Amino acid sequence: MEDTNYIIEEAYDPEERFRDLSDVEPKFWEKKSLEELSKREWELLCDGCGKCCLNKLEIKGRICFTNTYCRFLDTKSCLCKIYDNRLEKVNDCRDIDIKAIREKPRWLPKTCAYVLLDEKKPLPSWHPLITGKASSVHKSGVSLKNRELINEAEVTDYENHIVKWEDL
Ligand code: SF4
Ligand code: SF4
Repeated sequence: MEDTNYIIEEAYDPEERFRDLSDVEPKFWEKKSLEELSKREWELLCDGCGKCCLNKLEIKGRICFTNTYCRFLDTKSCLCKIYDNRLEKVNDCRDIDIKAIREKPRWLPKTCAYVLLDEKKPLPSWHPLITGKASSVHKSGVSLKNRELINEAEVTDYENHIVKWEDL
């Protein structure tokens, strides 16, 4: 199926996710373990950086990120264009669950909120749960927004696209 068959609904507003948090316990991420989070709390933890959607190579037991991205990532918003159907449409798309977070070698970026909390580290000051704004991940420069990226559809030589960004 062609990529163009999927688009993020124009009405979708990423800010909506963090606008009303009255249904979750304040600072739940400091009070509960990852295993204790509700589905809503789990989803709120994702900062929307998009970096888990970069293609990676495993070389000598280490994960090397590339600046090539899954064809279904919208690089303007850093959101998946097919979020609800991603696992059925993309063979190597992974659900972010506890197993994925603890997998070695680590394939999620070091800034990923799930990784940070699992390592008993605090959420960073730019995290949307702290700022109340989805856009703060982009303003801080931690997301994929405004980086030099290449759609995987245009790439065959992934090994020539390895990047060593500090926040991976
Ligand atoms: S790397 Fe982590 S925080 Fe960033 S988009 Fe992926 S799951 Fe969300
Ligand atoms: S299909 Fe998976 S890897 Fe691709 S953009 Fe969506 S969430 Fe990311």
